Amino acid sequence: MKLVVSKFGGSSVATKEKIERLADIIRLDAARRCIVLSAPGKAPGFDVKVTDLLIAAVDKALNRQDYAEPAAGVKARFAAIYEPLGVERGKIDEALADLDGRLSSPTSHPGKFRDLVVAAGEDINCKLFADYLNIVGVKAKYVCPKAAGLVVTPIFGDAQPLPEAGAGLAALKNECAEQIVVFPGFFGYTADGDVATFSRGGSDLTGAILAEAIDAAEYENWTDVDGIFSAHPKMVDSPDQITALTYKEMRELSYIGFNVLHEEAVRPVLKKKIPIRLRNANNIDNKGTLIVSERLPGDRDVAGIASGGGYCSFTLQKFLMNREKGFGRRLLSIFEDMGLSYEHCPSGVDNISVILDQNQLKPETVNSIIRAIDEQLAPDETETEFGIALVSVVGEGLVRKIGVLSQATSALSRAGVNIKLVNQGSSEISMIFGIDASDEKKAVNALYKEFF
Ligand code: ASP
Repeated sequence: MKLVVSKFGGSSVATKEKIERLADIIRLDAARRCIVLSAPGKAPGFDVKVTDLLIAAVDKALNRQDYAEPAAGVKARFAAIYEPLGVERGKIDEALADLDGRLSSPTSHPGKFRDLVVAAGEDINCKLFADYLNIVGVKAKYVCPKAAGLVVTPIFGDAQPLPEAGAGLAALKNECAEQIVVFPGFFGYTADGDVATFSRGGSDLTGAILAEAIDAAEYENWTDVDGIFSAHPKMVDSPDQITALTYKEMRELSYIGFNVLHEEAVRPVLKKKIPIRLRNANNIDNKGTLIVSERLPGDRDVAGIASGGGYCSFTLQKFLMNREKGFGRRLLSIFEDMGLSYEHCPSGVDNISVILDQNQLKPETVNSIIRAIDEQLAPDETETEFGIALVSVVGEGLVRKIGVLSQATSALSRAGVNIKLVNQGSSEISMIFGIDASDEKKAVNALYKEFF
Protein backbone atom coordinates (compact mmCIF):
# COMPACT_ATOMS: atom_id res chain seq x y z
CA MET A 1 0.00 0.00 0.00
CA LYS A 2 1.37 3.41 -0.99
CA LEU A 3 1.64 5.62 2.06
CA VAL A 4 2.33 9.33 2.22
CA VAL A 5 3.18 11.12 5.45
CA SER A 6 1.62 14.60 5.46
CA LYS A 7 2.84 17.11 8.00
CA PHE A 8 0.89 20.33 8.45
CA GLY A 9 2.60 23.28 10.10
CA GLY A 10 1.13 25.75 12.58
CA SER A 11 -0.17 28.11 9.90
CA SER A 12 -2.14 25.27 8.24
CA VAL A 13 -4.02 24.39 11.42
CA ALA A 14 -4.56 27.89 12.78
CA THR A 15 -8.29 28.37 12.12
CA LYS A 16 -11.51 26.43 11.69
CA GLU A 17 -11.41 27.11 7.93
CA LYS A 18 -7.87 25.82 7.67
CA ILE A 19 -8.81 22.62 9.48
CA GLU A 20 -11.69 22.14 7.02
CA ARG A 21 -9.27 22.61 4.12
CA LEU A 22 -6.91 20.15 5.68
CA ALA A 23 -9.65 17.50 5.74
CA ASP A 24 -10.26 18.23 2.04
CA ILE A 25 -6.57 17.81 1.29
CA ILE A 26 -6.57 14.45 3.07
CA ARG A 27 -9.59 13.29 1.09
CA LEU A 28 -7.94 14.22 -2.22
CA ASP A 29 -5.31 11.48 -2.05
CA ALA A 30 -6.00 8.03 -0.61
CA ALA A 31 -2.29 7.60 0.15
CA ARG A 32 -2.35 10.42 2.74
CA ARG A 33 -2.85 8.15 5.71
CA CYS A 34 -0.32 9.37 8.23
CA ILE A 35 -0.96 12.93 9.34
CA VAL A 36 1.39 14.90 11.59
CA LEU A 37 0.22 18.20 13.03
CA SER A 38 1.89 21.15 14.70
CA ALA A 39 0.12 23.26 17.31
CA PRO A 40 -1.97 26.14 15.88
CA GLY A 41 0.16 29.09 14.80
CA LYS A 42 -0.82 32.74 14.48
CA ALA A 43 -4.21 33.64 12.99
CA PRO A 44 -6.26 36.81 12.57
CA GLY A 45 -7.20 37.93 16.07
CA PHE A 46 -4.66 35.53 17.60
CA ASP A 47 -1.22 37.00 17.28
CA VAL A 48 0.62 34.50 19.46
CA LYS A 49 1.31 30.89 18.50
CA VAL A 50 -0.10 28.26 20.86
CA THR A 51 3.44 26.99 21.51
CA ASP A 52 4.54 30.48 22.56
CA LEU A 53 1.54 30.83 24.89
CA LEU A 54 2.48 27.50 26.46
CA ILE A 55 6.07 28.65 26.87
CA ALA A 56 4.79 31.83 28.55
CA ALA A 57 2.67 29.72 30.91
CA VAL A 58 5.70 27.57 31.75
CA ASP A 59 7.86 30.61 32.48
CA LYS A 60 5.21 32.02 34.79
CA ALA A 61 4.69 28.70 36.57
CA LEU A 62 8.42 28.29 37.09
CA ASN A 63 8.60 31.81 38.54
CA ARG A 64 5.63 31.06 40.80
CA GLN A 65 3.48 33.59 38.97
CA ASP A 66 -0.10 33.24 37.88
CA TYR A 67 -0.22 31.45 34.52
CA ALA A 68 -4.00 31.69 34.10
CA GLU A 69 -3.83 34.21 31.25
CA PRO A 70 -1.63 32.30 28.78
CA ALA A 71 -3.36 29.04 29.72
CA ALA A 72 -6.75 30.64 29.03
CA GLY A 73 -5.36 31.88 25.71
CA VAL A 74 -4.49 28.33 24.69
CA LYS A 75 -7.92 27.07 25.66
CA ALA A 76 -9.64 29.87 23.77
CA ARG A 77 -7.70 28.97 20.64
CA PHE A 78 -8.74 25.33 20.66
CA ALA A 79 -12.35 26.16 21.48
CA ALA A 80 -12.45 28.76 18.66
CA ILE A 81 -11.18 26.21 16.16
CA TYR A 82 -12.98 23.01 17.13
CA GLU A 83 -16.30 24.06 18.64
CA PRO A 84 -17.68 25.49 15.38
CA LEU A 85 -16.50 22.31 13.65
CA GLY A 86 -18.91 20.24 15.72
CA VAL A 87 -16.44 18.62 18.11
CA GLU A 88 -18.37 18.00 21.33
CA ARG A 89 -17.73 20.51 24.11
CA GLY A 90 -17.12 17.55 26.46
CA LYS A 91 -14.27 16.30 24.29
CA ILE A 92 -12.74 19.76 24.10
CA ASP A 93 -13.01 20.16 27.89
CA GLU A 94 -11.41 16.78 28.39
CA ALA A 95 -8.45 17.71 26.19
CA LEU A 96 -8.09 21.05 27.93
CA ALA A 97 -8.30 19.48 31.39
CA ASP A 98 -5.21 17.57 30.36
CA LEU A 99 -3.42 20.92 30.00
CA ASP A 100 -4.43 21.87 33.55
CA GLY A 101 -3.05 18.55 34.75
CA ARG A 102 0.26 19.24 33.05
CA LEU A 103 0.48 22.77 34.41
CA SER A 104 -0.09 21.58 37.97
CA SER A 105 2.54 18.84 37.79
CA PRO A 106 5.85 19.17 39.73
CA THR A 107 8.23 21.88 38.59
CA SER A 108 11.27 20.47 40.38
CA HIS A 109 12.86 19.51 37.05
CA PRO A 110 12.23 22.65 34.93
CA GLY A 111 13.18 20.99 31.63
CA LYS A 112 10.81 18.07 32.13
CA PHE A 113 8.04 20.39 33.25
CA ARG A 114 8.56 22.69 30.29
CA ASP A 115 8.42 19.91 27.72
CA LEU A 116 5.39 18.26 29.31
CA VAL A 117 3.45 21.53 29.07
CA VAL A 118 4.75 22.75 25.71
CA ALA A 119 4.00 19.41 23.99
CA ALA A 120 0.33 19.86 24.92
CA GLY A 121 -0.16 22.16 21.90
CA GLU A 122 0.49 19.39 19.39
CA ASP A 123 -1.10 16.69 21.53
CA ILE A 124 -4.43 18.44 22.08
CA ASN A 125 -4.57 19.55 18.46
CA CYS A 126 -4.19 15.99 17.22
CA LYS A 127 -6.78 14.54 19.61
CA LEU A 128 -9.36 17.11 18.54
CA PHE A 129 -8.47 16.86 14.86
CA ALA A 130 -8.90 13.06 14.87
CA ASP A 131 -12.34 13.62 16.44
CA TYR A 132 -13.20 16.11 13.75
CA LEU A 133 -12.14 13.76 10.94
CA ASN A 134 -14.43 11.07 12.32
CA ILE A 135 -17.29 13.58 12.52
CA VAL A 136 -16.90 14.35 8.81
CA GLY A 137 -16.81 10.67 7.94
CA VAL A 138 -13.07 10.11 7.61
CA LYS A 139 -12.05 7.20 9.82
CA ALA A 140 -9.14 8.43 11.91
CA LYS A 141 -7.30 7.68 15.12
CA TYR A 142 -5.07 9.80 17.36
CA VAL A 143 -1.85 7.90 18.09
CA CYS A 144 0.16 8.71 21.19
CA PRO A 145 3.92 8.86 20.50
CA LYS A 146 4.53 6.89 23.70
CA ALA A 147 2.29 4.00 22.68
CA ALA A 148 3.81 4.07 19.20
CA GLY A 149 7.35 3.83 20.57
CA LEU A 150 8.82 7.21 19.64
CA VAL A 151 11.69 7.05 22.11
CA VAL A 152 14.00 10.03 22.31
CA THR A 153 17.07 11.18 24.22
CA PRO A 154 16.38 12.85 27.59
CA ILE A 155 17.67 16.20 26.36
CA PHE A 156 14.68 18.35 27.22
CA GLY A 157 13.92 21.00 24.63
CA ASP A 158 16.35 19.48 22.15
CA ALA A 159 15.69 15.74 22.15
CA GLN A 160 16.82 13.45 19.35
CA PRO A 161 15.08 10.28 18.21
CA LEU A 162 16.78 7.07 19.31
CA PRO A 163 17.49 4.36 16.71
CA GLU A 164 15.18 1.90 18.46
CA ALA A 165 12.20 4.21 17.75
CA GLY A 166 12.08 2.95 14.16
CA ALA A 167 11.13 -0.63 14.99
CA GLY A 168 8.13 0.37 17.10
CA LEU A 169 6.95 3.04 14.71
CA ALA A 170 7.07 0.61 11.76
CA ALA A 171 3.93 -0.99 13.19
CA LEU A 172 2.07 2.18 12.25
CA LYS A 173 2.01 0.82 8.70
CA ASN A 174 -0.72 -1.59 9.76
CA GLU A 175 -2.54 1.14 11.66
CA CYS A 176 -2.49 3.29 8.52
CA ALA A 177 -4.11 0.47 6.56
CA GLU A 178 -7.02 0.47 9.03
CA GLN A 179 -7.61 4.21 9.30
CA ILE A 180 -5.91 7.57 9.08
CA VAL A 181 -3.34 8.00 11.79
CA VAL A 182 -3.12 11.44 13.40
CA PHE A 183 0.23 11.80 15.13
CA PRO A 184 1.35 14.83 17.15
CA GLY A 185 4.58 16.44 16.00
CA PHE A 186 7.40 17.93 18.04
CA PHE A 187 7.85 15.43 20.89
CA GLY A 188 8.57 11.89 21.95
CA TYR A 189 9.12 10.07 25.22
CA THR A 190 12.34 9.26 27.01
CA ALA A 191 13.13 5.70 28.13
CA ASP A 192 11.91 6.81 31.60
CA GLY A 193 8.55 7.78 30.13
CA ASP A 194 8.93 11.58 30.25
CA VAL A 195 7.79 13.85 27.43
CA ALA A 196 10.75 15.47 25.67
CA THR A 197 10.36 17.91 22.79
CA PHE A 198 12.60 18.43 19.80
CA SER A 199 13.92 21.94 19.19
CA ARG A 200 11.51 24.59 17.83
CA GLY A 201 9.89 23.65 14.55
CA GLY A 202 10.50 19.99 15.42
CA SER A 203 7.23 18.66 13.97
CA ASP A 204 9.12 18.52 10.68
CA LEU A 205 11.41 16.01 12.30
CA THR A 206 8.48 13.90 13.55
CA GLY A 207 7.12 13.72 10.01
CA ALA A 208 10.50 12.62 8.68
CA ILE A 209 10.92 9.96 11.38
CA LEU A 210 7.49 8.51 10.57
CA ALA A 211 8.15 8.62 6.82
CA GLU A 212 11.29 6.59 7.38
CA ALA A 213 9.61 4.14 9.77
CA ILE A 214 6.64 3.33 7.55
CA ASP A 215 8.62 3.42 4.26
CA ALA A 216 6.49 6.24 2.95
CA ALA A 217 6.48 6.88 -0.79
CA GLU A 218 6.67 10.60 -0.07
CA TYR A 219 6.91 13.00 2.86
CA GLU A 220 4.68 16.00 2.29
CA ASN A 221 5.38 19.09 4.32
CA TRP A 222 2.52 21.60 4.11
CA THR A 223 3.06 25.24 5.03
CA ASP A 224 1.82 28.55 3.68
CA VAL A 225 4.38 29.05 0.90
CA ASP A 226 4.43 27.45 -2.53
CA GLY A 227 7.84 25.89 -2.10
CA ILE A 228 11.46 26.93 -2.46
CA PHE A 229 12.34 29.78 -4.80
CA SER A 230 15.50 30.17 -6.84
CA ALA A 231 16.27 33.34 -4.90
CA HIS A 232 14.79 34.89 -1.81
CA PRO A 233 11.68 36.94 -2.71
CA LYS A 234 13.03 39.68 -0.42
CA MET A 235 16.04 40.00 -2.71
CA VAL A 236 14.62 39.36 -6.20
CA ASP A 237 11.20 40.29 -7.58
CA SER A 238 9.02 37.20 -8.21
CA PRO A 239 11.80 34.61 -8.43
CA ASP A 240 11.11 31.26 -10.12
CA GLN A 241 9.84 28.47 -7.94
CA ILE A 242 12.14 25.45 -7.91
CA THR A 243 10.23 22.35 -9.01
CA ALA A 244 12.85 19.87 -7.84
CA LEU A 245 16.19 19.96 -6.09
CA THR A 246 18.37 17.54 -4.17
CA TYR A 247 18.70 17.21 -0.39
CA LYS A 248 22.25 18.57 -0.67
CA GLU A 249 21.14 21.59 -2.67
CA MET A 250 18.42 22.29 -0.16
CA ARG A 251 20.93 22.10 2.65
CA GLU A 252 23.22 24.56 0.85
CA LEU A 253 20.32 26.94 0.18
CA SER A 254 18.99 26.77 3.71
CA TYR A 255 22.49 27.33 5.12
CA ILE A 256 22.24 31.00 4.21
CA GLY A 257 18.99 32.75 3.77
CA PHE A 258 16.44 30.01 3.13
CA ASN A 259 14.46 28.79 6.07
CA VAL A 260 12.90 25.71 4.59
CA LEU A 261 12.66 22.72 6.86
CA HIS A 262 13.89 21.95 10.35
CA GLU A 263 17.59 21.22 9.85
CA GLU A 264 17.37 17.74 11.30
CA ALA A 265 14.36 16.67 9.25
CA VAL A 266 16.36 15.56 6.24
CA ARG A 267 18.47 12.93 7.96
CA PRO A 268 15.77 10.26 8.49
CA VAL A 269 14.39 10.45 4.95
CA LEU A 270 17.86 10.68 3.40
CA LYS A 271 18.70 7.11 4.41
CA LYS A 272 15.76 5.67 2.53
CA LYS A 273 15.81 8.28 -0.23
CA ILE A 274 12.21 9.25 0.48
CA PRO A 275 11.29 12.37 -1.49
CA ILE A 276 10.09 15.39 0.49
CA ARG A 277 7.51 17.61 -1.12
CA LEU A 278 6.99 21.11 0.23
CA ARG A 279 3.46 22.30 -0.42
CA ASN A 280 1.21 25.25 0.24
CA ALA A 281 -2.02 24.41 2.05
CA ASN A 282 -3.47 27.72 0.78
CA ASN A 283 -2.70 26.90 -2.85
CA ILE A 284 -3.20 23.22 -3.44
CA ASP A 285 -3.04 23.48 -7.23
CA ASN A 286 0.64 24.29 -6.95
CA LYS A 287 2.61 21.02 -6.85
CA GLY A 288 5.24 22.58 -4.61
CA THR A 289 8.94 21.77 -4.54
CA LEU A 290 10.19 18.20 -4.56
CA ILE A 291 13.39 17.40 -2.68
CA VAL A 292 15.03 14.21 -3.90
CA SER A 293 18.28 12.30 -3.46
CA GLU A 294 19.47 12.63 -7.04
CA ARG A 295 19.00 15.25 -9.70
CA LEU A 296 16.24 14.65 -12.18
CA PRO A 297 17.06 14.78 -15.90
CA GLY A 298 16.38 18.22 -17.26
CA ASP A 299 17.01 20.03 -13.98
CA ARG A 300 18.86 23.31 -14.31
CA ASP A 301 22.56 23.36 -13.49
CA VAL A 302 22.03 26.02 -10.87
CA ALA A 303 19.19 25.41 -8.43
CA GLY A 304 19.22 28.74 -6.64
CA ILE A 305 21.03 31.74 -5.24
CA ALA A 306 21.12 32.15 -1.49
CA SER A 307 22.56 34.96 0.58
CA GLY A 308 22.93 36.14 4.12
CA GLY A 309 24.68 38.93 5.98
CA GLY A 310 26.36 39.25 9.34
CA TYR A 311 29.71 37.55 8.79
CA CYS A 312 33.20 38.65 9.69
CA SER A 313 36.68 37.50 8.71
CA PHE A 314 40.07 37.20 10.35
CA THR A 315 42.80 37.13 7.70
CA LEU A 316 46.38 36.26 8.57
CA GLN A 317 49.46 36.87 6.41
CA LYS A 318 52.71 35.10 7.18
CA PHE A 319 55.66 34.61 4.88
CA LEU A 320 56.26 30.87 4.27
CA MET A 321 53.07 29.95 6.11
CA ASN A 322 52.68 26.94 3.83
CA ARG A 323 55.80 25.32 5.35
CA GLU A 324 54.69 25.72 8.95
CA LYS A 325 53.19 22.45 10.09
CA GLY A 326 49.93 22.64 12.01
CA PHE A 327 49.33 26.34 11.29
CA GLY A 328 45.72 25.86 10.18
CA ARG A 329 44.94 23.51 13.05
CA ARG A 330 46.37 25.90 15.63
CA LEU A 331 44.45 28.80 14.13
CA LEU A 332 41.15 26.94 14.19
CA SER A 333 41.74 25.67 17.71
CA ILE A 334 41.88 29.29 18.92
CA PHE A 335 38.26 29.66 17.78
CA GLU A 336 37.31 26.25 19.12
CA ASP A 337 38.77 27.01 22.54
CA MET A 338 36.64 30.15 22.70
CA GLY A 339 33.52 28.15 21.89
CA LEU A 340 33.13 29.74 18.44
CA SER A 341 32.17 27.89 15.29
CA TYR A 342 33.55 28.96 11.94
CA GLU A 343 31.86 28.87 8.56
CA HIS A 344 34.68 28.87 6.01
CA CYS A 345 38.42 28.86 5.94
CA PRO A 346 39.75 29.87 2.50
CA SER A 347 43.51 30.00 2.14
CA GLY A 348 46.25 31.19 -0.20
CA VAL A 349 49.99 30.45 -0.25
CA ASP A 350 50.93 32.73 2.61
CA ASN A 351 47.52 33.73 3.92
CA ILE A 352 44.49 32.17 5.47
CA SER A 353 41.09 33.56 6.47
CA VAL A 354 38.53 32.35 8.93
CA ILE A 355 34.96 33.44 8.32
CA LEU A 356 32.56 33.46 11.24
CA ASP A 357 29.03 34.47 12.04
CA GLN A 358 29.74 37.81 13.74
CA ASN A 359 26.73 37.53 16.04
CA GLN A 360 28.76 35.10 18.13
CA LEU A 361 31.34 37.77 18.96
CA LYS A 362 31.46 40.43 21.64
CA PRO A 363 33.98 43.31 21.23
CA GLU A 364 36.17 41.83 23.95
CA THR A 365 36.16 38.43 22.18
CA VAL A 366 37.59 40.04 19.06
CA ASN A 367 40.52 41.42 21.07
CA SER A 368 41.10 38.07 22.75
CA ILE A 369 41.15 36.33 19.35
CA ILE A 370 43.69 38.77 17.94
CA ARG A 371 45.84 38.46 21.04
CA ALA A 372 45.77 34.66 20.89
CA ILE A 373 46.61 34.73 17.17
CA ASP A 374 49.60 37.02 17.80
CA GLU A 375 50.88 34.92 20.68
CA GLN A 376 50.39 31.50 19.17
CA LEU A 377 50.98 32.07 15.47
CA ALA A 378 53.05 35.27 15.20
CA PRO A 379 51.64 36.32 11.81
CA ASP A 380 53.18 39.21 9.84
CA GLU A 381 49.78 40.83 9.69
CA THR A 382 46.21 40.15 10.88
CA GLU A 383 43.26 41.91 9.36
CA THR A 384 39.68 41.78 10.60
CA GLU A 385 36.65 42.72 8.61
CA PHE A 386 33.01 42.96 9.66
CA GLY A 387 29.77 43.35 7.71
CA ILE A 388 30.45 40.68 5.12
CA ALA A 389 27.59 39.05 3.24
CA LEU A 390 27.90 35.60 1.72
CA VAL A 391 26.21 34.90 -1.58
CA SER A 392 26.01 31.35 -2.74
CA VAL A 393 25.31 29.90 -6.19
CA VAL A 394 23.94 26.42 -5.52
CA GLY A 395 23.51 23.53 -7.90
CA GLU A 396 24.71 19.97 -8.29
CA GLY A 397 24.99 20.72 -12.01
CA LEU A 398 27.99 22.98 -11.31
CA VAL A 399 30.24 19.94 -11.32
CA ARG A 400 29.45 19.13 -14.94
CA LYS A 401 29.73 22.58 -16.35
CA ILE A 402 32.77 24.51 -17.51
CA GLY A 403 32.93 28.21 -16.86
CA VAL A 404 30.24 28.69 -14.20
CA LEU A 405 32.68 30.42 -11.89
CA SER A 406 33.71 32.84 -14.61
CA GLN A 407 30.06 33.42 -15.49
CA ALA A 408 29.33 34.26 -11.85
CA THR A 409 32.38 36.49 -11.33
CA SER A 410 31.74 38.34 -14.62
CA ALA A 411 28.14 38.96 -13.59
CA LEU A 412 29.31 40.33 -10.25
CA SER A 413 31.97 42.51 -11.83
CA ARG A 414 29.49 43.92 -14.36
CA ALA A 415 27.27 44.84 -11.42
CA GLY A 416 30.20 46.62 -9.77
CA VAL A 417 30.36 44.18 -6.84
CA ASN A 418 33.78 43.71 -5.28
CA ILE A 419 34.44 40.06 -4.37
CA LYS A 420 36.35 39.72 -1.12
CA LEU A 421 36.58 35.95 -1.10
CA VAL A 422 35.55 32.95 -3.14
CA ASN A 423 35.00 29.53 -1.70
CA GLN A 424 34.12 26.59 -3.86
CA GLY A 425 33.91 23.47 -1.74
CA SER A 426 35.34 20.29 -3.21
CA SER A 427 31.84 18.85 -3.66
CA GLU A 428 31.18 21.61 -6.21
CA ILE A 429 27.60 21.98 -5.06
CA SER A 430 28.02 25.62 -4.26
CA MET A 431 30.21 28.58 -4.93
CA ILE A 432 30.27 31.10 -2.14
CA PHE A 433 31.30 34.72 -2.58
CA GLY A 434 32.08 37.04 0.30
CA ILE A 435 31.09 40.61 -0.49
CA ASP A 436 30.33 43.85 1.29
CA ALA A 437 26.94 43.57 3.02
CA SER A 438 25.73 46.73 1.24
CA ASP A 439 26.15 44.92 -2.11
CA GLU A 440 24.05 41.89 -1.17
CA LYS A 441 20.90 42.72 -3.12
CA LYS A 442 22.85 43.91 -6.14
CA ALA A 443 24.91 40.72 -6.17
CA VAL A 444 21.96 38.36 -5.80
CA ASN A 445 20.11 40.11 -8.63
CA ALA A 446 23.15 40.01 -10.90
CA LEU A 447 23.63 36.29 -10.31
CA TYR A 448 19.92 35.59 -10.63
CA LYS A 449 19.83 37.36 -13.98
CA GLU A 450 22.85 35.43 -15.14
CA PHE A 451 21.58 31.96 -14.27
CA PHE A 452 17.78 32.19 -14.57
N1 ASP B 1 4.87 23.98 17.68
C1 ASP B 1 6.28 23.87 17.73
C2 ASP B 1 6.92 25.21 17.44
O1 ASP B 1 6.24 26.21 17.27
C3 ASP B 1 6.79 22.79 16.83
C4 ASP B 1 6.40 22.92 15.38
O2 ASP B 1 5.51 23.67 15.01
O3 ASP B 1 7.03 22.24 14.59
O4 ASP B 1 8.12 25.27 17.39
